Amino acid sequence: MNFQLNEQKEELQKRLSRFEKQCREKGLRVTRQRREIFCTVAQSSEHPSAEKVFQAVRQKMPNVSLDTVYRTLSSLEEMDLLMRVGLSSKARFDGDLRPHCHFVCTRCGEVYDIFPQAGEPPFSLPYGAAEKGEVKQINLQLRGICKKCCSR
Ligand SMILES: [Zn+2]
Ligand SMILES: [Zn+2]
Repeated sequence: MNFQLNEQKEELQKRLSRFEKQCREKGLRVTRQRREIFCTVAQSSEHPSAEKVFQAVRQKMPNVSLDTVYRTLSSLEEMDLLMRVGLSSKARFDGDLRPHCHFVCTRCGEVYDIFPQAGEPPFSLPYGAAEKGEVKQINLQLRGICKKCCSR
C-alpha cells in the first residue's frame, strides 16, 4: 500500500471517529443512514451536492429520501462535521476540515480546493479578529470564473 493511500485511510478514520464522538455528545444515534450520508461526503474530495450524496447513498439504501439527505447534511453542518461551500443556489458539502480555501466558479458552481503549500504560512486572520471572539475556523472563499468556463 502506498503512503498516500495510507494517509487517506488515516484521515478518513479520523473523520469517522470525530463523527461518532460528536453524535454521542449530542445524544444522536449513529444510524446506518446517518453514517452512510456522512461517509459519502467525508470520502469525497469533490464537494458533492445534496443530490449527488442522495444518488450515492440510494445505491446502498434504496429507501432513503432526498429530504432526509438534506436534513441530515444540515444537521452534520450544525455539528461542525461538514462545511457548506459554493454558491447558495448550488450548495456543496465538504468533509475535509483541514485548513484550505475554496475557489468557487460563479458560472458553473464548481468548487476547487486550494491547500497551503509546504512552508507557506497558514491563512492569517484580519487585524482585529481576535477582539470579536475565539476563532475556530477560517472559511476563505474565492469567487471567479474557473479555467474550464473561461475556455468555453
Ligand atoms: Zn466554471
Ligand atoms: Zn474543500
